[in-house]
Amino acid sequence: MAVTFLGRDAWTTHGPAKPLTELTDPTGVAVHWPGATGQIGQSRESIASRLEGYRAFHVNTRGWNDIAYQMAIDNAGRVWKLRGEAFMSAANGDQDVNRAWGAVLLMLDQDDRPSDAMVEAFQTWRTTRWLIRFPRASKIAPHSAVRPSGDTDCPGDAARALIRSGRLMEEPDVALTDVSITEWKSLLKVEIVPVSDPDNVNAGDPDLVGVRTALGWTADRSAAHARQLAALGAQLGPMAGEVAEMRGQLAAQDAKLDEIAMAVAALGANPGN
Ligand SMILES: [Zn+2]
Repeated sequence: MAVTFLGRDAWTTHGPAKPLTELTDPTGVAVHWPGATGQIGQSRESIASRLEGYRAFHVNTRGWNDIAYQMAIDNAGRVWKLRGEAFMSAANGDQDVNRAWGAVLLMLDQDDRPSDAMVEAFQTWRTTRWLIRFPRASKIAPHSAVRPSGDTDCPGDAARALIRSGRLMEEPDVALTDVSITEWKSLLKVEIVPVSDPDNVNAGDPDLVGVRTALGWTADRSAAHARQLAALGAQLGPMAGEVAEMRGQLAAQDAKLDEIAMAVAALGANPGN
């Protein structure tokens, strides 16, 4: 099974409508579902159009800065970057809870059961992205357990049972593959885009821009900041080539060790020769 990490451009052309607040010291991750009636579907296209629909609803109807969640994970094992881990969600109930908990959206409808691919994707995301950034934020809770008013069924019984089982806490073996190197490389690319909602740009702030980096999306009034980030990304990008080369050398070493191990085993099988 392979976990697929997808960037924000896999589902939207919009940056955040307004600047996001950095998440600094969470205690864990809260798990959500869309609570949708009807089938969500698991094709890449249907998930992407759902996410864009949530974003438009959260921004245009609710007046929030962006889609509420940090990440989404679907039953095919795709991990979708929404706000990203770096930024506080708007999903958990109030600002205090949003400061204390991250927010991951499991793309499950009423009839779906979390698949093994979804579980592996969650474990891999948590181990390689979330806990790397927030080593102390090891808790996992259903939204229903952290929402201040408590009046939500989110993320549904199947996901609640999954959280109770402890499977989401397990840490998978994570290999550095060509795919993850490519993803890593693409995350290092810094994109500078105009903030999507022109209403948020005042006449006096001609430099308000959205910036996409390895750390997620942000918006800043300083174009100079954006240029510095772009320069940093340009420096880091070429490093991915060196990492790939190191991986090749390690693989060659592994093959040598395998050969030696096989030779030793063959000797063991023919004692006295
Ligand atoms: Zn929820």
